[in-house]
Amino acid sequence: MSLPADCLFCQFVDGTLETEIVGQNEHAIAFRDINPQAPLHVLVIPREHYADVAALAGADPEALADLVGLAQEVALDEADGEYRLIFNSGPMAGQSVFHVHGHVLGGTKLGWSPA
Ligand code: 5GP
Ligand code: ZN
Repeated sequence: MSLPADCLFCQFVDGTLETEIVGQNEHAIAFRDINPQAPLHVLVIPREHYADVAALAGADPEALADLVGLAQEVALDEADGEYRLIFNSGPMAGQSVFHVHGHVLGGTKLGWSPA
């Protein structure tokens, strides 16, 4: 698991690495996924480092609420407010970056075949 010091997404938050920020609020930022799986594919992440969504929910529910609100804002801007919000949690579920992130997907009729 990444430590905050070498965490890719922490570096987007602190500006060490550049990414296209499409929205932000007090606790969360949103940026486009580098490998989009739908016309709208944005990642929403908390500014603070937590490994997964349960850790975030336990430690800072207000930040989780901000993150979900930001997901909806982006979807309202770009997909008429219709979207899927996914948190892959653990490698078996597809998590590859261990700074919690919600995938905001939309902009087309989405399929449903995760396995
Ligand atoms: P996970 O597999 O952990 O649920 O999602 C990680 C996501 O981060 C993937 O969808 C992947 O495309 C995205 N990603 C990985 N590296 C980068 C990067 O450098 N920039 C951006 N914008 N997205 C990235
Ligand atoms: Zn991080």
